[in-house]
Amino acid sequence: MIHADALHASTLAPLERWLTSPRVSGLPDQSAAAAPPALSFEFFPPKTEGLEAQFWACIKRLAPLAPRFVSVTYGAGGTTQGRTHALVARLAAETTLPPAAHLTCVGATREEVDEVARRYWAAGVRHIVALRGDMPGGVDYVPHPGGYAYAADLVAGLRRVADFEISVAAYPETHPTAASPAADLDNLKRKLDAGATRAITQYFFDTTTYLRFLDRALAAGITAPIVPGLLPVSNFAQVAKFSAACGTSVPAFLGRMFEGLDDDAETRRMVATVVAAEQVRLLQANGIDEFHFYTLNRPDLVYAIAHILGVRPKAPATV
Ligand SMILES: Cc1cc2nc3c(=O)[nH]c(=O)nc-3n(C[C@H](O)[C@H](O)[C@H](O)COP(=O)(O)OP(=O)(O)OC[C@H]3O[C@@H](n4cnc5c(N)ncnc54)[C@H](O)[C@@H]3O)c2cc1C
Repeated sequence: MIHADALHASTLAPLERWLTSPRVSGLPDQSAAAAPPALSFEFFPPKTEGLEAQFWACIKRLAPLAPRFVSVTYGAGGTTQGRTHALVARLAAETTLPPAAHLTCVGATREEVDEVARRYWAAGVRHIVALRGDMPGGVDYVPHPGGYAYAADLVAGLRRVADFEISVAAYPETHPTAASPAADLDNLKRKLDAGATRAITQYFFDTTTYLRFLDRALAAGITAPIVPGLLPVSNFAQVAKFSAACGTSVPAFLGRMFEGLDDDAETRRMVATVVAAEQVRLLQANGIDEFHFYTLNRPDLVYAIAHILGVRPKAPATV
């Protein structure tokens, strides 16, 4: 069936059609009086000295944006435990940025995980991103005998160790191995009920799916913030491959945006900024005022997007 409006529109002259078609809503208010959004940045622990210098350069560049926290991931199976701890402890000791340490359940007993958490607390780290984690090598997840089985158990365990601020993961497109979207949402609620104060989402490109997920979460009685985790894309081929593994759908428009740009890094970067800016502005227009960025230890794109969101550098942070 063809809708009468569509039939009407197809018979109009261009200018008439432009001026009578539905108007998009206004862009969010960015007057000086409007409060800028709260940001957080995620980094991974670098493997080499050269990459470590890049990590600190990235921290230095983003620090003046006064993030609410900066977090450092934990490698699959706890493989980066030492490096993650060293970086987070150094962030706590040498900078004014509030650090958060990612911690997983994989491959360790409860006592071992609790000990890592106690060391964080002793180092002045007050925020943990509590995750189940994945097995190294992509094999199916099996809880460690004597370990925390799922993230909700880890959250409960951390609450017994110390008065940490705890963030957990959320999946607008459902975790790939969840029994159902409803079971996954129940799991998110269990994590928050166990003592987490915020969820951070897996990255997504389909903003509508995220906003619907917020509706479902609210209907399920969740009121804690479910902060959008955003991955600014500059290497489309890599992101498409990675997304298939973590259950993030890649809309056709994104492929078209990067079509033919494989050998043109500069245009790719410009397109990437526009794509990410559109996504954050749309989220902002829908009332979202907290954003978490997967920086991949590269600051420029994130800095530009933060600027577009209305965030301006504050007094130089101590880094
Ligand atoms: C913001 C963010 C940061 C991340 N950082 C890291 C990191 O630093 N290191 C890392 O290795 N990984 C990281 N991950 C990936 C994460 O570890 C994986 O996605 C992992 O597969 C699930 O972790 P979770 O904490 O969401 O698990 P959970 O919340 O425990 O859920 C995992 C799955 O099990 C199901 N489930 C939960 N409880 C039960 C139960 N009792 N019985 C049966 N099924 C159950 C859930 O529905 C879900 O399908 C991160 C993900 C996000 C979104």
